[in-house]
Order: sequence, then structure tokens, then C-alpha cells
Amino acid sequence: MGKVEISALIRPHLIDMKPYASARDEFTGKSEVYLDANENSLGSVGVRDLSRYPDPHQHEIKKKLSSLKQIAADQIFIGNGSDEPIDLLIRAFCEPLKNEIIILPPTYGMYEVSANVNNVPVKKVPLTADFQLDVAAIEEAINSHTKLIFTCNPNNPTGTRIADTEVIKILENFNGLVIVDEAYIDFSEKESFIGLIEQYNNLVVLQTFSKAWGLAAARVGMLYGSTEVVEILNKIKPPYNVNEMSQEAVIYALQNEQQKQAFVDEILNERAYLHTELASLTTVQSIYPSDTNFLLVRVTEPDKLYHYLIDKGIIVRNRSKVLLCEGCLRITVGTRQENERLIKAIKSF
Ligand SMILES: *Cc1c(COP(=O)(O)O)cnc(C)c1O
Repeated sequence: MGKVEISALIRPHLIDMKPYASARDEFTGKSEVYLDANENSLGSVGVRDLSRYPDPHQHEIKKKLSSLKQIAADQIFIGNGSDEPIDLLIRAFCEPLKNEIIILPPTYGMYEVSANVNNVPVKKVPLTADFQLDVAAIEEAINSHTKLIFTCNPNNPTGTRIADTEVIKILENFNGLVIVDEAYIDFSEKESFIGLIEQYNNLVVLQTFSKAWGLAAARVGMLYGSTEVVEILNKIKPPYNVNEMSQEAVIYALQNEQQKQAFVDEILNERAYLHTELASLTTVQSIYPSDTNFLLVRVTEPDKLYHYLIDKGIIVRNRSKVLLCEGCLRITVGTRQENERLIKAIKSF
């Protein structure tokens, strides 16, 4: 199949819609006196000056990401977490009660929640028992109303990676957008799909500052895709969707990328430690291979262990009722001290 015609996928009423033009859109140069946005020219209440609206297009962040990720700035969308682009993709491409999305459980919960909020039907095609794509079943589930397929690679909550070749099969045969959520890509040896965007204009890659970069509270997510996709999301997003403090935090982080790498190295080291220690415990039946900063662990009495750990002051994620994750707890890799405390607690269970 050739190139996908993105404009034909966009909800028709958005094509002609006039977007909000902010004061900062109408005058984009530098000047000395700003009396155009009804801000408080005297300053901010509080210790820090936040009296001016932030850059609605996050130019500085995109410039830095463009060179880091080797992709044009107009192929980058910055959101209030990756949860925002997930929601905006559904709103830009899916007509409520008419278009459909496909998700591949067990997977990240927000794809379905965002679709539900927007009244967009969700088709579910479970992963295979070894957490790979069921390509035949996905192709069977696609119909003329299907607009988006959400894949998560490496996947949450399984921690495993999906074979790239299988995702590419979907990309090649689907006349809609394939989203590849790479929230955990920094912890994986597999390569990002960003490099494939040039080849597949229906490929959309999501990444986040919430995991390896350690900026979950700042709420900044990235979307990489073809210019047509980025353009429509920019058109419908809230004008100032990423606040000034978060933009500053991310710009600072991007100047200190080596610290992110140091965090990743230490987390991978701790992941190996945790894996070894957990594997020696009788309660633990199996541990899935992980390309992420967490481990999916099958245990003999998941609910009992989960509550036992809460009593010991340790919170993990109980995924034992999730399809294909029966009996499993999802454990985020902590500091050495936290990991030791967890192991000690499970030993006393
Ligand atoms: C944590 C996570 C995210 C991150 O969401 P943010 O809104 O950027 O914090 C996205 N996708 C998956 C699969 C995740 O696990």
C-alpha cells in the first residue's frame, strides 16, 4: 500500500474550522512593551515570575528535540503528558459512535479511557500468550470505520517488547494511523520507530518525560509523526497546553541528557538485581522479561501478597485480574534500598 492520505482521515468539520489565535500567535517577534494579552504587567503574586503566557508552540523544546531525535521540528507535538496527544488523536480522527479504534490488551489503560470519554467504540484484539501481536486477528478487526490502532512497545503492563516486524506489517496494511507508544523506549535495547516516520506517514510515535527523564510531575509528552498529523493536533489543542514551569524543566533536562542516561544505567542495574532476588523466592512463580523500568511477576497468592505489602508500607500494582496477566503484580524498579526492603518483605510473607 502506498502513502496514506492523512487529510482524508481527519474529521471533516475540523478541516475548515478556524483555530483560536492567541495574542502570542498574532505577534511573534520580540518587543519591549507587551500590552496585548491582558497579563499582569506588575508581576506575579508569589516568589516566582509567571506573569507571562508561555510559548504556545514550545519552540525551544522542539528545537532541542529536533536535534536529539533527528526529526524536523514541525513533526513534533508537545503535550500535557502523552495522555494529551492520545486524547487529541481520538478527537482529531474519530467521529463519535461511528469511527473505531483498535487496542491490544493487556495494554496501557488511557487509550480506552480517552475513547470512552469521546464516545468512540473500542475494538480489542488481545496479544498472543507470549505477548506478541495477533496480526491476522488485527487485520480481521479492521473495517472501513477503523481510524487508529494503538500499540505500546515496550508494552505496559507486560514489560515485554513486540517484534518490530509485526508492527510494520500493520503499518503497511492499514489505511489509518498506527500509534506506537514508546514511553519505556529508554530502558529497551530496541530502536525507536521515529526513524521510520519518513517511510510511513501513518506512523505516530509517542514518548514521554515521565519515565526515564524523571519528570512525571511536569506532565510533558512528545508525539512524533508526519507534518499533517502534527498540524491537525496543533490546530485543536488548547493554546497554552504546556505551562512555563514545565517547559523550563524540560529545556533544562534536555541540556543534561547524560543524567538521564546515568539514571537509565542505574535502573537497569537495579532491574537485574531485583530480577535475581525475586527469582529465588518461593512465592514467585515466574518473571517476564522486561524492556522497561518495571517487572511483571507472577506469584502464588497475588491479592494476599499485595495487601501484605501495603501493610508493610510498600505499594505495587495489582494486575492479577488483567487479561493474560492473571496472578501478576507489576513492580516498579526502585532504589537499591527500596528493592531490598521489598525483597525482605516478600521473604517474610
Ligand atoms: C507512563 C506511560 C505513559 C506516560 O504518560 P504521561 O501522560 O506522559 O505521563 C504513556 N504511555 C504508557 C504506556 C505509559 O506506561
